[in-house]
Amino acid sequence: MKVFSHERLARLAGERGMPEEYLHDLRVVSSVLPFKVNQYVVDELIDWSAVPDDPIFRLTFPHRDMLPPDIYEHLSALHLSAADPGVIRKAARDAHAQLNPNPGAQLEANVPTHRGRRLLGLQHKYAETVLVFPSQGQTCHSYCGYCFRWAQFVGNAEIRQAATGVADVVAYLADSPTVTDVLFTGGDPMIMSAAVLDRWVSPLLDPALEHIRTVRFGTKALSYWPARFTTDHDADDVLRLFERIVASGRHVAVMAHFSHPRELATEQARRAIARIRATGAVIRAQAPLIAHVNDRAQDWATMWQQLVELGVVPYYMFVERDTGARSYFSVPLTRAWQVYTDAIRSVSGLARTARGPVMSAAPGKVLVDGVVRIGGAEVFSLRLLQARDAADVGRQFFAHHDPAAEWFDDLRPAFGSWWPA
Ligand SMILES: *Cc1c(COP(=O)(O)O)cnc(C)c1O
Ligand code: SF4
Repeated sequence: MKVFSHERLARLAGERGMPEEYLHDLRVVSSVLPFKVNQYVVDELIDWSAVPDDPIFRLTFPHRDMLPPDIYEHLSALHLSAADPGVIRKAARDAHAQLNPNPGAQLEANVPTHRGRRLLGLQHKYAETVLVFPSQGQTCHSYCGYCFRWAQFVGNAEIRQAATGVADVVAYLADSPTVTDVLFTGGDPMIMSAAVLDRWVSPLLDPALEHIRTVRFGTKALSYWPARFTTDHDADDVLRLFERIVASGRHVAVMAHFSHPRELATEQARRAIARIRATGAVIRAQAPLIAHVNDRAQDWATMWQQLVELGVVPYYMFVERDTGARSYFSVPLTRAWQVYTDAIRSVSGLARTARGPVMSAAPGKVLVDGVVRIGGAEVFSLRLLQARDAADVGRQFFAHHDPAAEWFDDLRPAFGSWWPA
C-alpha cells in the first residue's frame, strides 16, 4: 500500500495542482499533527476537481486553521527560516502539550487495575464493555484530520498507550464476569495482519470466557482501505476469523467509521461490506459530525439511507471531541442537534437507529436530546446513553442553552446542579 505523509504528501499535493502557499501550510501543520493519505483515498475518494472544498480532502489533508494561530505562526516562522529539523521537532513537541493529547483524561481514568497492576492498553469505563488497544494496531490506513487518537500516532511515548500482549486481556476478562463485549480499537485493528489479529482474538473464544458474547472491531478500513476485506493477500483469513467467532456462538460487530456517503460509493467498499456481511458479522456505522466534511443534514440522510440499503446499521453520530484540531472541525451543539434532527426527519424508521449527537464525555455518553423551554428558560435536554454506573443510564438532565457551546465542558447546569436531589 502506497502512503503519503510529510514531504511526500507535499509533493503529491503539488502534483495535483495545489499552490505553493498551500504547500507551506501543509508542511507547517503536518510538522505538528500527523497526516497520512494512501493511494485509495487519493484515487478513489477525493474528487480533485472539487479541491480544496472536497469533503474527503478536508477530512484527510492539512489546513492552517487546524493549529491555533500562535502555534501556526511560530512553526511557520521556523519553516520559513529553514530552521534545523531538531528545532522544529522540539517546537512540535511543545505544541503537542498544548493540544490536549488525552482528552478528559479518559485514557488515564479508565485503565483497569488487575492484581495490583495497571493494564495499559485496556479501558474499562462501562460495566459491559472492555476496550483493547493492541500494540500492533496503533495506526490507520489513512488519517482523519480531527483524530483524537493522534497522540497514538506521533510517537511520543509519554502520551501513548497500547496493550503489548493478549495474556493480560484474558486474565482480566476471566476475572470480570460482568463484561459481555470486547472492543478492539486503535488506531485501527484492521491494520494488523490476519495472523496477528488472530493472536488477539482466538484466546477470547476459550470456554473460560463464555461471558464474552460480542467481539467488536472499531475500524475505518471500509472507508480508507476496503481491500483489507477483498484483495489483500490475507483478506480471506480475516473473514475466516470473523466466521470462527460467529461459529462460537458470539456476535461479531464491525463498528465502521463512515464520515461521508462518498465512502460508500466505490465498488471496493461495496464488495467489502457484502463479504463481511456474508460471514455473519453485523456492520454498524458511526462517525463524528465535523465542519467542512459532513455538517449538512443531507450528508447524513444520504449516508444513512445508503447504509440501510447495503445492510449496515446506523449507530452513532458523535460530537467531535475537544482535542487536536478541534476549532477547525467543531460544530456547535445546537447546530449538531439541528443537523441530526433534520437528517432523521428525512429518512425512514430503519435509518433512525442512529443516535446523536453524542458526546463521549467524563460522565459517560451524553446525548443532546433537544433544545426545549422549561419554566420560561431555554435549555438543552441531555440524556446519558452510557454511564459508569448502570443506574445512571437513561438519566435526563438539563443545561443552559448556550448557542456557542461545542462540548460538555462548555455547558452549565440549568437548575442548580446536574443531578437535582
Ligand atoms: C462508546 C464506548 C463504549 C461502547 O458503548 P456502546 O454504547 O455499548 O456502543 C465502550 N467504552 C467506551 C469507553 C466508549 O466510549
Ligand atoms: S480512522 Fe479513527 S483512529 Fe484512525 S485517524 Fe481516523 S479518527 Fe483517528
